[in-house]
Amino acid sequence: MKVQVVVGLEIHVQLSTQTKLFCGCPVRFAAPPNSLVCPVCLGLPGALPVLNKKAVDYAILAAMALNCQIASFTKWDRKGYYYPDLPKNYQISQYDLPLGKAGFIEVQGDDGGIKQVRIRRVHLEEDAGKNLHAGGAYSCVDLNRAGTPLLEIVTEPDITSAAQARALAVELQRIVRYLGVSEADMQKGHMRFEPNVNLRIETDGQAFRTPIVEIKNLNSFRALEASIRYEADRQVQEFLESGQVMTSGNKTTRGWDDVRQVTVLQRQKEEAEDYRYFPDPDLVPVVINTSWLDQIKALLPELPLRRQIRFVQQYGLSEYDAGVLTSDRSCADLFDKAVEAGGRPKRVCNLLTQVGLRVANERGCSVGDLGLSPVNLATLASMIEEGKVNATSGVRILEQMIATGQDPMTLARSMDLLQIADSSRLESIIDQVLSMQQKAVQEACSEGKKAQKAFNFLVGQVMQATKGQANPTVIAEMIRKRLGGA
Ligand SMILES: [Zn+2]
Repeated sequence: MKVQVVVGLEIHVQLSTQTKLFCGCPVRFAAPPNSLVCPVCLGLPGALPVLNKKAVDYAILAAMALNCQIASFTKWDRKGYYYPDLPKNYQISQYDLPLGKAGFIEVQGDDGGIKQVRIRRVHLEEDAGKNLHAGGAYSCVDLNRAGTPLLEIVTEPDITSAAQARALAVELQRIVRYLGVSEADMQKGHMRFEPNVNLRIETDGQAFRTPIVEIKNLNSFRALEASIRYEADRQVQEFLESGQVMTSGNKTTRGWDDVRQVTVLQRQKEEAEDYRYFPDPDLVPVVINTSWLDQIKALLPELPLRRQIRFVQQYGLSEYDAGVLTSDRSCADLFDKAVEAGGRPKRVCNLLTQVGLRVANERGCSVGDLGLSPVNLATLASMIEEGKVNATSGVRILEQMIATGQDPMTLARSMDLLQIADSSRLESIIDQVLSMQQKAVQEACSEGKKAQKAFNFLVGQVMQATKGQANPTVIAEMIRKRLGGA
């Protein structure tokens, strides 16, 4: 029996606009319940929505990054359903004319190459509020989130494993962060996933497809991967138990129980007609002309995966290093500029990944906010490269560069971290040490077992005398010459 998992993803990404999609209420996390609401997002009778242009800008930028055809004419539709967190009894969404369609996203395949997953559509819609089941005989509803702009992205069923679904979700997070259209903070529910999972099964020369199951409302990469894996196994079991007579029937909806790590049947899926979509009479259609498109196209950066691959090919960085650098756009930007300013790529990379990202993480900001200039970073990299300071001192200097904004040479001098490159000064230090350590010198010159140990001891003594500011390899070479000549 040959089993192939088939997955299509629906992803909701919260856009990081200042205000909601159709009213001026702020978009903010963890505000007191129902403090960020107005007649429009409360759905009060007679209140009229006004479109937030920034949300459309962000949505177009994201759709472009996903290689979509952008609609020149789009409109708003009401999707009718009743739920306590939806005070209007309909959600404003886009039905037959989505903002973007027929695109693709590139993800790293299991073999390290690039795999394209087709994007069926990208559209804008408003989020609902949140029901809070705090326990007790009643539930509460918080409408702060009602009306927040969401980007819905729907892929074609091109994904063939749970791991690949996860890789796509992670890549999408990196893309929307690069574009600056979403914080994509999983903890704050900025990304939610709904995979459609079924199986293509071949057995005894016959092909079957199991019914599609949609798993609702997953809010972590881990849950996304685990639920698809579980669902694939469950569908194999169901197929075997059905005596292989199962055909692709109605789509069902299942929830994910994160505690028990299983999917649970919720309901038969509604069809589109159940929602009674119709154009929203309160909103005018959106016409997107070429000059608007050109303005947004100019903002489109090199996408993270392409950049990661370029870092490997152009600079010889490892796949891992390139991945870490490109995880933060401002970090990758700084890297590019520092290399342009003459820093050796591997050195610049080490400084940024070992110090820059760590400090940024501690401060809860991005590397770009640390105030590092590309020229100073390149200079520090060259100082390490040329042996003016050692790598350990380089780390300390970079920390001080971030703390004080001073240039690396000034800091190396004031922190007394410059290595002694002046050979006559080193010679005199070595002279002193050798004359004080006669016994060790004799042992080092002997043929005995102790020779190497005594030699290392002498190198250590000289290092100590220079307060670690000399290159041990250079010292060892100089001592060897002196002893050889003695
Ligand atoms: Zn409002």
